[in-house]
Amino acid sequence: MGVYHNHLKELFAKDEFKEIVMKPDKCSFCKGKLIKGKTEFVVKVGKEVLTIKDVSAYICEECGEAYYTPEVSEKIDKIMKKFHESTLLVHPVAAGELSLSEVAV
Ligand SMILES: [Zn+2]
Repeated sequence: MGVYHNHLKELFAKDEFKEIVMKPDKCSFCKGKLIKGKTEFVVKVGKEVLTIKDVSAYICEECGEAYYTPEVSEKIDKIMKKFHESTLLVHPVAAGELSLSEVAV
């Protein structure tokens, strides 16, 4: 499903990737309860590290693992595509940082 997902695979280094993009129920690692919250999405693209802030996710109460909804995954996917094409027109919060809520995709 594109380069971004390959990066994600490397990032998490696990096989249950499909479970992450589906609507999460409980943590697949520790079976902990998932609570809705906000997290930061950090992805490495080549030498650069991009941080997307204010990402809605389900976060495990026990181990802190974040699970993204399909909508958020899709949004991040679009941002990553723009990032790869160097057409991302945003005012970064800080170097290499941007807020998901501020990006029109
Ligand atoms: Zn957990």
